[in-house]
Amino acid sequence: MLKYQTIPVTPFQQNCSLVWDSETKQAAVIDPGGDLETLLGEARRLGLKLEQIWLTHAHIDHAGGTAELAEQLQLPVIGPHAADQFWIDALAQQGAMFGFPEARPFRPTRWLQDGETVELAGHVLHVRHCPGHTPGHVVFHSPEMKRAFVGDVLFAGSIGRTDFPQGDHDTLIASITQRLWPMGDDTVFIPGHGPESTFGRERRSNPYVANT
Ligand SMILES: [Zn+2]
Ligand SMILES: [Zn+2]
Repeated sequence: MLKYQTIPVTPFQQNCSLVWDSETKQAAVIDPGGDLETLLGEARRLGLKLEQIWLTHAHIDHAGGTAELAEQLQLPVIGPHAADQFWIDALAQQGAMFGFPEARPFRPTRWLQDGETVELAGHVLHVRHCPGHTPGHVVFHSPEMKRAFVGDVLFAGSIGRTDFPQGDHDTLIASITQRLWPMGDDTVFIPGHGPESTFGRERRSNPYVANT
């Protein structure tokens, strides 16, 4: 069985998630933005064996700790989509601006594309490319858990910002309605910031995407 736990990291309170197989304890970490000691402490407490880093997009609060963690534990970096390369290149600059001294660029072991899958201990998660907030943003969907890790695409009651370079509002709305809604109203999503919700609840009440 797959389990997960979300740990807010960095001054941006970004929802980093640990995902693991309950029997083997093989684990992936989604969006290790920073506070690596906290993340590693939690992984240790849960008895997890970290094997992979999965990235939704390359903003500092999501990807800032990636290079350091990958190097420390010799982990493969999977994702995001290659269109986020320019954000990876800008990590050190973003880090200096926002006070993340450890943030630096890295080279993903594997870029992701829409329709691909990632695998952890025999469990398969589906990858959807959801541009709009950043051009290379991806989300990870586990039909088994009925969970989706959506980064900064959608929040409870809100949507991702689109005022960054290569951000685009209409593209983001299309990502949400064409690639998230088909996952089902009862699917719970873990956003990059703030509390969880379901796609059904957002379709009914989120002012940015209600009745879409
Ligand atoms: Zn972001
Ligand atoms: Zn974020």
